Amino acid sequence: MTVNLLNYDLDALVGFCEQLGEKRFRATQLFRWIHQKGAFSFDQMTDLAKSLREKLPASARIEALKVLSRHDSADGTVKWLFDVGAGDVIETVFIPEADRGTLCISSQAGCAVGCRFCSTGHQGFSRNLTTAEIVAQLWFAEHALRKQLKKDDRVISNVVMMGMGEPLQNYSQLLPALRVMLDDHGYGLSRRRVTVSTSGVVPMIDRLARDCPVALAVSLHAPEDVLRSNLVPLNKKYPIAELLEACARYQQAAPRDFITFEYCMLEGVNDQPEHARQLVALMKHHAVDGLSCKFNLIPFNPFPASGLKRSDMAQVMAFSKILLDAGIVTTVRKTRGDDIDAACGQLAGDVQDRTNARERMASQRQGMLGGIKVVVAKGAGI
Ligand code: SAH
Ligand code: SF4
Repeated sequence: MTVNLLNYDLDALVGFCEQLGEKRFRATQLFRWIHQKGAFSFDQMTDLAKSLREKLPASARIEALKVLSRHDSADGTVKWLFDVGAGDVIETVFIPEADRGTLCISSQAGCAVGCRFCSTGHQGFSRNLTTAEIVAQLWFAEHALRKQLKKDDRVISNVVMMGMGEPLQNYSQLLPALRVMLDDHGYGLSRRRVTVSTSGVVPMIDRLARDCPVALAVSLHAPEDVLRSNLVPLNKKYPIAELLEACARYQQAAPRDFITFEYCMLEGVNDQPEHARQLVALMKHHAVDGLSCKFNLIPFNPFPASGLKRSDMAQVMAFSKILLDAGIVTTVRKTRGDDIDAACGQLAGDVQDRTNARERMASQRQGMLGGIKVVVAKGAGI
């Protein structure tokens, strides 16, 4: 059985090459070919010794994800659906902006946290993605977009772990993937341009602070425990005070950074002026521990099974004004990719029901020729 080299950060690849009797710099060359040039076959790696190129296929491969479909939004947002086997489908979204290109990556198939306002949460948990499956989303999107846009240099400048799944409940696979993103021989993204978003897995926030203190976003959604536990069940295990203390500790590892708090605006549930005032009091209280933060208000993207509604814009603006008046940096997230269901929490939009996903994939498979791995559905350009 060969190993998929997308599973390895540079240190692991060095270890792998050493087992083959190869020097460290060979691993660096290999790593650069894979991540910087998007090579998928060892034959492409022309400056690698021929003997190594011939030796590698016996023990290693570079295996992409199977593309199910690609959807392009009128606003430039691109969403890919990938088949990760056994009926599981994950999504990756590219969001172009004037000054950056952001890739939103999934960390799990489904999610075990079960937040009420999230369609992935409603879908339940299927499995953790491997490092290779996490990295492959970036590897594929970066090189597909470069080809499409005829660019030689970087297209994706920012990564957010805000797709399907709770990244900090898949820590062992997440960490090497983050290292590949940050490595100068990999994607060379700076620590501040890679964001891990979490619903609040406290012990893993502390581990991330030690191992790889990238930008942290915390999905707060409520100013007090009763409401938060109702929206984000994980709050029963790690209540708000513990979570904010972990955030303050995190900032000691990344002193000049802000923690971003995400707050999904749900009509009549967590969007009242009183909630905003409670939030201000909460943040003032924790500022004493050295916590500095900003808020990102996300208008809820509705889906029928949630039974919840999006706050109207006037309510969102009034909420934001209370935070701003108290000196808290607050932004309201623009919704992107609405027309292709690529907005937050809609990621599983058209595959919410796994049975449907399975059926659809089965019918797509029937039309496939044996041996063809990549299913490119209608509208898939690359
Ligand atoms: N599990 C992680 C990361 C994935 S969710 C987390 O919860 O942080 C990424 C963001 O999308 C989170 O802030 C989440 O609260 C938000 N989100 C989920 N469903 C949403 C919806 N239907 N509308 C708006 N935002 C949503
Ligand atoms: Fe999981 Fe995040 Fe969705 Fe909650 S919001 S169910 S943690 S993906």
